[in-house]
Amino acid sequence: MKVRFWGVRGSIPSPGKHTVRYGGNTTCIEVRPDDGSLIILDAGTGIFPLSQSLFPEFPITAHIFNTHTHWDHIQGLPFFIPFFVPDNRVNIYGVADPISQKGIREILDTQLQYRFFPIREVELKADIAYQSLVEAEVVHIGETKITPVLMNHPVINFGYRIDCNGKSMFFTGDHEPPSNIYTPDDEEYKEYQSLIEQKNKGMIDVIQGVDVMIADASYTPEEYEAKKGWGHGTYDSNIVMARDAGVKKLYCTHHEPTRSDDDLEAVFEAALERNPRQEGDPECFLAQEGLTIDW
Ligand SMILES: [Zn+2]
Ligand SMILES: [Zn+2]
Repeated sequence: MKVRFWGVRGSIPSPGKHTVRYGGNTTCIEVRPDDGSLIILDAGTGIFPLSQSLFPEFPITAHIFNTHTHWDHIQGLPFFIPFFVPDNRVNIYGVADPISQKGIREILDTQLQYRFFPIREVELKADIAYQSLVEAEVVHIGETKITPVLMNHPVINFGYRIDCNGKSMFFTGDHEPPSNIYTPDDEEYKEYQSLIEQKNKGMIDVIQGVDVMIADASYTPEEYEAKKGWGHGTYDSNIVMARDAGVKKLYCTHHEPTRSDDDLEAVFEAALERNPRQEGDPECFLAQEGLTIDW
């Protein structure tokens, strides 16, 4: 299995001399299981350079799995070049909105409205199909199995576990570990706590034993105090989650747009020092644009 990072930044693209090493594009990950299928996790601005790398393979079949429809995870989608070339096939998977009952097609359709983008969806040349997913609804692509997992974010966000030939990976999308909104003195505290523990156990069970976990580690614990409820995790919360799930390698991503390369390395090093590696713990890395993991 091969994984390549095309965008590792959260919230907004952040080009410039201070982000050259880790990259300024927003979330996009290319996954190639052993059978060579093309799976793309999220369509942040990183999908534009990814799509340029695909020319030699045209015509292609691409499978784009969207974790959720916040801008930094869809902004590059209209610029996915295979859309404009006949004979390409693009399958787009994502969450249906439970309140409006709108599927992934209707949600993304908004992006291609004439007032926002000069080319309408009907004018795209590729064969495009949409599939709205519900939690735990497994998608099979050849020998590869993709499982959506409900995470914790202000809108519904699916993490995706991908399995092929005994190799596995998991991407959280945007995720904040659920925390108790009550204080221990409140009557509701205990019941809420047991719901959280149940939810965490459910997530850990699905992630269990993956070779690679790519996770939303936006904040340091100090930064997090002012940003509770914004829907993002910390380096520390992800190290703990990866440890609990028996993950082999953890890649921290969704880097803060204001964080320079040097700052990023400094906060990451500090996180590793706070969480010394013990036997069986995952190896931890920073996700970096252009980095390929091959195993
Ligand atoms: Zn995001
Ligand atoms: Zn988000």
